[in-house]
Amino acid sequence: MTDAKLVELRLEFRALIAGIMGGLEGSGWQPKISNARRTRAQQAEKVRLGYAMPGARGPGSHGWGLACDIIDRRHGWEVSETAARFFAELGDLALGAGLTWGGAWFGVGGTREHPTHTSPWNKWQVGWDPAHVQWPQQEIPPEWRTDYRREV
Ligand SMILES: [Zn+2]
Repeated sequence: MTDAKLVELRLEFRALIAGIMGGLEGSGWQPKISNARRTRAQQAEKVRLGYAMPGARGPGSHGWGLACDIIDRRHGWEVSETAARFFAELGDLALGAGLTWGGAWFGVGGTREHPTHTSPWNKWQVGWDPAHVQWPQQEIPPEWRTDYRREV
């Protein structure tokens, strides 16, 4: 299965995400990219709704084609043990591929056991942005920090 939103991702990142999605499918999940490239206006709306960090004024990694949010098409963001298991497996694959996973975020100074930024999935030890996978911030070359346009 190929996801239509894969093409919105920078090639180097796309290859890793395709591999991660294949791995999830191999375990019987139905992964789907809910959000890949994000415009400035979409990012501002996410911040307004409290779904993105207020500090992240620009679209950042999402705008550069270096982040995406992956859910299971049957479970989405539901607060359930099954969805938490999906996110945990996504996290294992993402971290294993050297990427950054939002489910490992427990707030400033927070830990898995004592999160400072609570998430509905905390009881399954999954942090507040569990669908989010991105290229490690500190490893993004300056020339990649630009709006990424899909090739047509
Ligand atoms: Zn995201």
